[in-house]
Amino acid sequence: MIRQLFISLVFSTLILFAAGLPCVQAQSNGPEWEPELTEDWTPVEYSVETGAPPSDAIVLFDGTDLDEWTSAADDGGNAAWRVEDGAMTVVPGSGNIKTRRGFGDVQLHIEWRTPEEIEGDGQGRGNSGVFLQEMYEVQVLDSWDNETYSNGQAGSVYKQKAPAVNASKAPGEWQTYDIIFESPRFDDNGELIKPAYVTVHHNGVLIHHRFEIEGPTEYIGLPEYSPHPQKLPIVLQDHSNPVSFRNIWIREL
Ligand code: MG
Repeated sequence: MIRQLFISLVFSTLILFAAGLPCVQAQSNGPEWEPELTEDWTPVEYSVETGAPPSDAIVLFDGTDLDEWTSAADDGGNAAWRVEDGAMTVVPGSGNIKTRRGFGDVQLHIEWRTPEEIEGDGQGRGNSGVFLQEMYEVQVLDSWDNETYSNGQAGSVYKQKAPAVNASKAPGEWQTYDIIFESPRFDDNGELIKPAYVTVHHNGVLIHHRFEIEGPTEYIGLPEYSPHPQKLPIVLQDHSNPVSFRNIWIREL
């Protein structure tokens, strides 16, 4: 009798469990949920063929002209760098160049190359720079067997943070930066309410992960924020070395 009762109890429990299982799965968040209710079927645009800019990027340099650029020193003047073989190259003494457009939060892809023939050393060897919002520099330098202060080598947030590793290629080789930049925010009184952050991949290697920028790049002294517009140009530096750039595109975030 007791044995029969036990067996029937086990069976009814199993039946109840089996019947209840799909309900439990379907009702994980409430009685009305179906899998389709949490599926987003809005089509996402195709992005890239390998090596090409994403479909939603603004191309800042495709190898043909400097239409997106202007002189930074001579505001509104023509960018006087040399365009040749799909690249733009610093003409030493011609000055920094900047984008005609301003940008805030962005993803920036830029390729650069320092001269194959080594000239100079330390900060004088293949020096240029990518200045976000005209004032926050990610250093460009030939850092292949070239000693200098580490927070001034290639990939450093200049004078603020050394790269996590030296991901440099040899001089004369093309290198990539993929930069995610978050602009600082200021309130109506000009007080900083959120610092800038930067994430950098150098040749595909993560070298800064959302580094909190301390303020505008300073060669001498400590950085300190002061209020500025939400969108400002990207600047490329003429540091008297014939550094080249190509395939530059940007996506606003
Ligand atoms: Mg520099």
